[in-house]
Amino acid sequence: MKEIRGAEVAKALKAQMTEDIAALGGYIPQLVIVRVGERPDDISYEKGAAKRALAMGLRCTSFVFDAEISHEEFVMEFQKINKDPEVDGILMLRPLPKQINEKEIERLIDPGKDIDCIGPMNLARVFAGETDAYAPCTAEAVMEMLKYEGIDLKGKRVTIVGRSLVVGKPLAMLMLGQHATVTICHTRTADFQGTCHNAEILVAAAGKAKMIKKEHVADGAIVIDVGINLDEEGNLCGDVDYEEVKKTAGIVTPVPGGVGSVTTLVLLKHLIQAAKQKRR
Ligand code: NAD
Repeated sequence: MKEIRGAEVAKALKAQMTEDIAALGGYIPQLVIVRVGERPDDISYEKGAAKRALAMGLRCTSFVFDAEISHEEFVMEFQKINKDPEVDGILMLRPLPKQINEKEIERLIDPGKDIDCIGPMNLARVFAGETDAYAPCTAEAVMEMLKYEGIDLKGKRVTIVGRSLVVGKPLAMLMLGQHATVTICHTRTADFQGTCHNAEILVAAAGKAKMIKKEHVADGAIVIDVGINLDEEGNLCGDVDYEEVKKTAGIVTPVPGGVGSVTTLVLLKHLIQAAKQKRR
């Protein structure tokens, strides 16, 4: 069994991105992170993204709003950021507090700055197969891992577990774009085990700790684990029972150290792309 380690994929991506930044002729792209409230998950994601952006020599600014901010006031503040020509890309941490109509904000975001693909325009472009659209970063991170490993998707049987708009559905579209034959499983899939076992490439994105066991995985299959969960002991784990699956799978991605370590870099890749687009 082989592992695809996120750090190796990230290193290769970084090398390309450094060249892309240099090609901007001295312009430094600016990422803006929008956070409402003090949720620990948001703060830790924000810190990680900011650290990576700054380490790559990019600009990163955080705007933090009170958890009690009204919808109207947030729209006003968000639009200032959205319309600021110095802002190249926006990462808005979600979910937003209940009083804010998140759907309205998603519709407001400038598609050219929507590097995390929260707005309907970018999502529609991904579904239309436009290759220069900003796809949801996790879905694209899965594609980057497969690309790094030189895996050709053409004609391959792929099963994706999970049909969310941030991972499962857009990933299915990206894979169809590479001519894979894609099946999506969800909580009501009838022959779940059989559908997983039929796959040459199995992607787990359900958010259920260690739910993918060896009986779900064909011998030699490629297993990409997107899940981020805590096991009974409170340790970080994926959707795949790694210890069990590694005995028969061909390739498995670890958690931590797999897809998650590529996701933020994809966001920064989009930021550089957005800056390049703006300067055209
Ligand atoms: P979600 O809850 O929005 O969607 C989960 C999907 O999985 C649903 O479509 C549901 O039908 C399906 N599902 C759940 N339990 C199932 C089961 N027992 N059998 C079959 N299908 C089942 O979750 P999400 O936002 O798509 O995230 C999925 C996982 O990926 C989570 O663990 C999340 O933490 C992780 N995630 C990781 C990254 C990353 O960077 N690696 C980014 C986003 C999400």
